[in-house]
Amino acid sequence: MKLMSESEDKHQQRMAKKKAIVDEKIAQAQEERGVLILLKGNGKGKSSSALGTMARSLGYGKKCAVIQFIKGRNETGEMKFFKDHPLVDWHVMGHGFTWETQDKSQDIAAAEKAWALAGQLLQDESYDFLLFDEMSYMFKYGYLDVEPVVKALQARPKMQNVMITGRTMATPLQDIADTISTVQEDRHAFHLGVKAQEGIEF
Ligand code: ATP
Ligand code: MG
Repeated sequence: MKLMSESEDKHQQRMAKKKAIVDEKIAQAQEERGVLILLKGNGKGKSSSALGTMARSLGYGKKCAVIQFIKGRNETGEMKFFKDHPLVDWHVMGHGFTWETQDKSQDIAAAEKAWALAGQLLQDESYDFLLFDEMSYMFKYGYLDVEPVVKALQARPKMQNVMITGRTMATPLQDIADTISTVQEDRHAFHLGVKAQEGIEF
């Protein structure tokens, strides 16, 4: 048998200690329920991460829905990929808010319509996973009140998972969230003058 050097021995001890701590934490996390996950921050990767999580849920045959609160491009790769999936309902907020629109009353009407749908999904046990993409802007611009959204999230079916994305996140949502990740921008190709490209940006 190979003799362990002192550093290997120390490494093994350290790892064993670490494992014991992690095992203890795993043993303690026994609650089974859905979670509210918020993805915020200025960096790239929020919507794509949420869609990756949705793909993970779909792998287990879970029923999912996406509501895009901001209608950006008419078509995106993710929409092309997911919209016809039998377990995915894909909704784009009508003639909703885009960076180009300047019609506030139309934006508010679209936001309210999207929220009416979101509220229904939050009462529907058959949905395992909901993604409210870019929903946070609705609160930032005052298109929706956050309180009814908080109430509906708190009253949702026990096993339902919800993800909300957007650069800024209303504090009341952060107060009730289970997981919050901030995607920080260290650099973005756009600022190097690289044009947005299909399959990466949209
Ligand atoms: P993605 O959809 O790629 O995961 P995201 O959801 O984190 O990005 P958004 O704020 O929703 O980011 O912006 C969406 C679009 O803007 C994407 O095309 C993305 O590449 C681009 N983008 C994201 N972050 C930046 C940034 N810091 N500078 C310029 N463009 C960005
Ligand atoms: Mg996004």
